[in-house]
Amino acid sequence: MTDTPVIRTRGLTKRYRGTDALVDLDLEVSPGEVVGYLGPNGAGKTTTIRLLLGLIRPTSGTAQLFGLDSLQDAVAVHRRLAYVSGEPSLWPNLTGAEALHLLGQVQGTVDVPYRDDLVERFALDPSKKVRAYSKGNRQKVVLIAALASRPDLLVLDEPTAGLDPLMVHEFRSCVLEAKGRGRTVFLSSHLLSEVEALCDRVGVLSEGRLIEMGTLAEMRHLSAVTVEVTFEGDAPDLSTVDGVLSASANGRHASLQVRGSMEPLLKVLATSGVRQLRSREPSLEELFLTLYGDHDGASPHDG
Ligand code: ATP
Repeated sequence: MTDTPVIRTRGLTKRYRGTDALVDLDLEVSPGEVVGYLGPNGAGKTTTIRLLLGLIRPTSGTAQLFGLDSLQDAVAVHRRLAYVSGEPSLWPNLTGAEALHLLGQVQGTVDVPYRDDLVERFALDPSKKVRAYSKGNRQKVVLIAALASRPDLLVLDEPTAGLDPLMVHEFRSCVLEAKGRGRTVFLSSHLLSEVEALCDRVGVLSEGRLIEMGTLAEMRHLSAVTVEVTFEGDAPDLSTVDGVLSASANGRHASLQVRGSMEPLLKVLATSGVRQLRSREPSLEELFLTLYGDHDGASPHDG
């Protein structure tokens, strides 16, 4: 039994009229793993999660959780998981405490001391009415309810949307605590940094297709950095410098995608009359544009 994957999909496909929301997904998540699921808007993350939870019916293929069919055995499956959607809808007339109580009853089990501890850690005022909560505070309510049920599987769809950086930090600690207790976590995000901080393995989805799946070490080639440079005069051509994946120039301004060591680029920039230099992690969209262009099917860095 211990070898049964917590999540297992085979050929999982969902087509809407004219849209391939998810195509032929084969996914396996083992007990105790924290798996990130990354993709730009519309990639199919929420569709995957809805299929896993048995909320929608696949066009073809199967989804199993704990070895059970997520549609046929939905009741048994849902006893062992908790789900947090990125757009929580709650009862506006209840207080935070009442909403937590009700969510706990729906969930079935609640570790009450842990729940109270989470309320403190997330600095939630449970006496306020839900209607008076900001989006971030509503997000905290559903996160606390999910975590406090100590489920075997946590399914989190963009869980930190709306949380401030302190709360994101707290959330990450909670996920690592769940992992420390051997729980399994499946987390969707459009932020590479989010999954980098938490996940053992990462899947990358683009236009309904899983184009990458592996450990972060295996996916190092994805972690390019965007460098924006403003020069004193016209931007020079930097596209041939070692480590530069792509470069575009507009007058005095250049925007570069750089992978690996920055040293070759910095050497060139040191003698190029730089006025301003900024670097940041690229958005996934930029990453996909750099690495895959229009050819989503194959990774240029495989093998
Ligand atoms: P986001 O990060 O924006 O939430 P996502 O990765 O979760 O995106 P999905 O919501 O799974 O993406 O959507 C995948 C594709 O399927 C999109 O093109 C979307 O428009 C389409 N889609 C999703 N649900 C439906 C529906 N009920 N009817 C028609 N098309 C749909």
